[in-house]
Amino acid sequence: MKDSYGREIDYLRISVTDRCNLRCRYCMPEDIPSTPHQEILRFEEILQICRLAGELGIRKFKVTGGEPLVRKGCIDFLRELKALPCTEQVTLTTNGMLLSEYLPALKELGIDGINISLDTLNPKTFEQITRHTGQELVLENILKCQELGIRTKVNSVLLEGVNDNEFLDLVHLAKDYAVDVRFIEIMPIGFGKNYHGYNKEKLLSRISAVYPDYQTVTDKRGNGPANYIKIPGFSGCIGFIDAVHGKFCNQCNRIRLTADGILKLCLYYENGLNLKELLRTGASPADIRCAIETAILGKPSEHRFHQSALEGEPEHRKMSQIGG
Ligand code: SAM
Ligand code: SF4
Repeated sequence: MKDSYGREIDYLRISVTDRCNLRCRYCMPEDIPSTPHQEILRFEEILQICRLAGELGIRKFKVTGGEPLVRKGCIDFLRELKALPCTEQVTLTTNGMLLSEYLPALKELGIDGINISLDTLNPKTFEQITRHTGQELVLENILKCQELGIRTKVNSVLLEGVNDNEFLDLVHLAKDYAVDVRFIEIMPIGFGKNYHGYNKEKLLSRISAVYPDYQTVTDKRGNGPANYIKIPGFSGCIGFIDAVHGKFCNQCNRIRLTADGILKLCLYYENGLNLKELLRTGASPADIRCAIETAILGKPSEHRFHQSALEGEPEHRKMSQIGG
């Protein structure tokens, strides 16, 4: 369906948990209470929401977290989500740590793509960012995805003074492997406020110094807001998700479901529709569908990253509680 600004809303990001096996410093603190299990939507409840959202035109689902693969039953959930009549595409965003265990099942259920977050190729820096070891494992799992022929994207957040010296090394992953490498601009949400990052303009100037013959990709690539370039001789493309500086709100096609059942209409707005309450107080499917439709019609025109501190913070959740 279209929202009140004429944007076609066909994509739902589903956070299935706020728990994670890593603790990336820009996303989560070392110690954070997890939402109690009974407050988290059951998979049947999420599927019920997806079915109703599907009747309103949602066709593409991205499963995220926290770390989605730490939730027991995630693979069966993905299989059921894939089988819904409305589903055109199911993709996963993961930190890649647990992938080797689940890759055969993901391949078998027909996952349409996996985005793997990897900010560094240096094991020490990985430990510094995530407070855990495992960089080699993530890289290995990226390669395994490739071998299985699963469409793979690597997502990196470049942080000033932390991993920005590795920018070109990360770019080169797209040379050596058929993966798209995307650079997400750090957003001032939660712990992201403590870091400075890079927007597309700054990164492109670093690329053009080395690869002046890069080309802008004009065809649509993926469902999201990334802008891509292609460097001659590279297998994959390089993407930029310029969340703060390159405001792409006028092309936004997405809504989000938090693990505790709030339908968020914009990443940086706290308000949302409490679907868990509706589901658990016996609202009829027709009433829930109508509530989702009304919520989509009320989707804000744009995010509020540039709102002044005096106006208050538009969102108090941490990124691990939203799902990215
Ligand atoms: N755990 C999974 C992962 O890391 O891919 C899925 C959830 S994680 C919240 C999704 C994405 O959000 C990751 O690529 C992560 O780097 C990114 N992210 C987290 N906090 C961010 C922030 N403040 N600004 C920009 N991206 C952020
Ligand atoms: Fe976990 Fe992903 Fe957040 Fe890192 S970015 S702490 S892996 S949820």
